[in-house]
Amino acid sequence: MAPLGEGSEEALVVQDENRKPISSILIIIAMQTEAIPIVNKFQLKEDLDSTFPKGVPWVRYHGFYKDLRINLVWPGKDSTLGVDSVGTISASLVTYAAIQALQPDLIINAGTAGSFKVKGASISDVFLASDVAFHDRRIPIPVFDLYGVGLRQSFSTPNLLKELNLKVGKLSTGDSLDMSPQEEASIVANDASVKDMEGAAVAYVADLLKVPAIFIKAVTDIVDGEKPTSEEFLQNLAAVTAALDQAVTQVVDFINGKCLSEL
Ligand code: SAH
Repeated sequence: MAPLGEGSEEALVVQDENRKPISSILIIIAMQTEAIPIVNKFQLKEDLDSTFPKGVPWVRYHGFYKDLRINLVWPGKDSTLGVDSVGTISASLVTYAAIQALQPDLIINAGTAGSFKVKGASISDVFLASDVAFHDRRIPIPVFDLYGVGLRQSFSTPNLLKELNLKVGKLSTGDSLDMSPQEEASIVANDASVKDMEGAAVAYVADLLKVPAIFIKAVTDIVDGEKPTSEEFLQNLAAVTAALDQAVTQVVDFINGKCLSEL
């Protein structure tokens, strides 16, 4: 996100916005199993009179928690196959539609992710991503290569990090649960600690529409460990969502009553 010229009108507007208490947050979550504990924790209600176009599977839950209006959006189940609409396409679409409809002050993309032994990670660790990039968009032409990687910084939250016991690391996103050798090389080049299927897509849309975004990812599987990823993911999913739910609650409690510049 390019720095704005100091003293410019736009910069002053942004400064002003950053000093108002945050009033509305948008939580974006890819899977129902990840979303439900958080919906229950904040006692959110499903929006039956959908804000979204008729017929799409996207689901919005909403409510108030302390001083915050919380919207949680889940892309829902694939209309044909009935599985969660994971991945970058659904994530970008719901992020775009939700920002347009709800005008949030801050986005939290929460979910599960793979991590790496070489990064010292264990199952149930929770990471706050410092930046996000893609690992499956290879365009070996100067400058297009950088466009493909799509590196973006997440909104900086130094105080939140000081206060909460979260790990910090880079997040790398691709549309596959497994990892090809080429993708592995890109993940190493991205210096990623966590690997998911949505983060960089959410970051792209948030950047496009100038909404600050943070990424909370709980580790369900160790990509460079002994167990096959899909097996390990399914084995740990339910337990790890408890760690995710706890971290999201801590982050929301920290955010409550603060402005962006205090995070
Ligand atoms: N078989 C699973 C598929 C879910 S896809 C099921 O239907 O239950 C995995 C989801 O968890 C994605 O939303 C992704 O963001 C996250 N995830 C967890 N571990 C991952 C990994 N190792 N690589 C990529 N994404 C991962």
